[in-house]
Amino acid sequence: MKYVGVERVITLPYQEHQTAEDYAAALGTPLSLKGTYQVIRTVTKYQNHEDSISYNTFLQNQQNWKREGGYQCTTVTGKSLFVPSDELGGNCILLEGKWQGKTYTIGLYHLGEVYVKVGDIIQNEQVLGLQGNTGLVQSKKALTDVSYGTHVHVEVKNSQGEFINPRPFASEEQTLSLDKPQEDTQKEEPSSTLPSNQDPSQEDGTCQGKALFVCPKDDTYYIRLKKGEELYLIKPRS
Ligand SMILES: [Zn+2]
Repeated sequence: MKYVGVERVITLPYQEHQTAEDYAAALGTPLSLKGTYQVIRTVTKYQNHEDSISYNTFLQNQQNWKREGGYQCTTVTGKSLFVPSDELGGNCILLEGKWQGKTYTIGLYHLGEVYVKVGDIIQNEQVLGLQGNTGLVQSKKALTDVSYGTHVHVEVKNSQGEFINPRPFASEEQTLSLDKPQEDTQKEEPSSTLPSNQDPSQEDGTCQGKALFVCPKDDTYYIRLKKGEELYLIKPRS
């Protein structure tokens, strides 16, 4: 089955992994996801390892392996490998978008190469990067398998920041989208709530204000800014 754009196998299901799911394929396999979404974070500084570490072995030896600034791990082939604490996820891409009106964040970890940068809007199944084995990687495959150790660790968080099963997103049954700003405006600020003679869209050089707060006593306030003006929120002195 296709996961994260191409044929991959599940090497650690969500039920066992609990906060994520792991999908393995050969080193260098491209990653993509259908839909439209924005890149909100990337880490790109790590190199692929020549070897991999079993995550379960890591958990069992975590205290013994702990050193200042990281872990001196033993790889699946018995080699010693230092993994800094901040490298555990390796290279990664965090994506954000909406599905059925709610915001979701997708994290893709252990990448070899990252081809996108923060702020990029991704669409048309653009290749995001290449599968790697940066960070703390795990494999349940045979050592003779060329793809051993290399997998994509996929995490999905819902709008409450809770981890959910990433499979519907990894398998592209659910795809993210981005709301167009105009649609947002219409949804959040129905024009009927604005007095018709004050519709700012009629005036040159102004844009419609956002409803920033609702007065709990009686009213909704809209703030209008001319293009290029900045809004400052000032805390009142009590
Ligand atoms: Zn994982």
